[in-house]
Amino acid sequence: MSDQKQTIAFIGLGVMGREMAINLLKAGFPVVVFDTRVKAVEDLVSHGAIGASGVAQAAERAAIAITMLPNTPEVSEVILGPNGLLAHPPSGKLIIDMSTISPEATRDMSKALADAGIQLLDAPVSGGPAGATNAKLSIMVGGDNDAFARAQPVFAAMGTTIVHVGASGAGQTVKLCNQLIVGINLQAISEALALARASGLDLDKLREVLLGGAASSWMLQNLAPLMIARDTRAGFRIDLMFKDLRLVNELAYALNTPLPATALVTSQYLEARAHGEGSNGNQALFRVYDRMTNTGS
Ligand code: NAD
Repeated sequence: MSDQKQTIAFIGLGVMGREMAINLLKAGFPVVVFDTRVKAVEDLVSHGAIGASGVAQAAERAAIAITMLPNTPEVSEVILGPNGLLAHPPSGKLIIDMSTISPEATRDMSKALADAGIQLLDAPVSGGPAGATNAKLSIMVGGDNDAFARAQPVFAAMGTTIVHVGASGAGQTVKLCNQLIVGINLQAISEALALARASGLDLDKLREVLLGGAASSWMLQNLAPLMIARDTRAGFRIDLMFKDLRLVNELAYALNTPLPATALVTSQYLEARAHGEGSNGNQALFRVYDRMTNTGS
């Protein structure tokens, strides 16, 4: 039996997409790549990918197309635009959007694609750049059963927790639940660190003991060391987190669901952006507390 793997068109080679495309190559998938940044394409070609000069040019050489783009407008353009995947589908007529975007826009695109015989899975991820690099992402998938089954080997090259959570848009909705937990958790850690610092406590010892108890979390494990070291370098940017919280709020309004804690932390992200923190990593939320307590630089 042939072990030939299907060719993947990978569109969007940023912080996450670069690592995910490299893992597909490592797993033996032929990968054709496109990004509006030529340097990003050249980088992946040096890892063994085939470079393409546009979305259509990438898709026409592939069986499955994956998008990993910033937000809804970019995904809409790449899928529905004149040179996009609806007009130029991959041969296997399967598109997997792994970006975090609007669930409603996802359902609309899925319908438009289905009319042309093309399947769309929404498959946003959690786990950050480290999860992308180590192929340990959590992947939450919405869409048809058979499309999910076809995509399984592709997901397995990029993640370890892969769950089909429901119909089209359900993956994005689960991701938005994830993001509100992330934001509120980061706010809680920032608040605890502000109180501990004002009390003159050793913040590393505080973190060490909290990690062994009921307040432990991924954020405390992975981002609190950066917060304590006052390191604001980007992994997942403040601007992207604000984008996600905005999507959470829009969904909550549409469903008449009050989310008071989300509303508060969204305002703190707005404060961070107003102070020029948009390109910093998500952990830079602690600087909101620096400013409120007139501490730090
Ligand atoms: P990024 O901004 O680093 O990468 C996006 C890439 O898309 C860039 O290389 C950009 O040049 C490219 N791009 C933009 N428009 C394009 C177009 N029309 N055609 C082709 N390429 C285009 O973003 P990222 O951090 O890799 O995140 C991607 C998605 O994954 C976002 O939706 C984000 O919310 C989500 N996400 C990010 C993280 C993280 O930790 N960074 C974690 C989970 C999910």
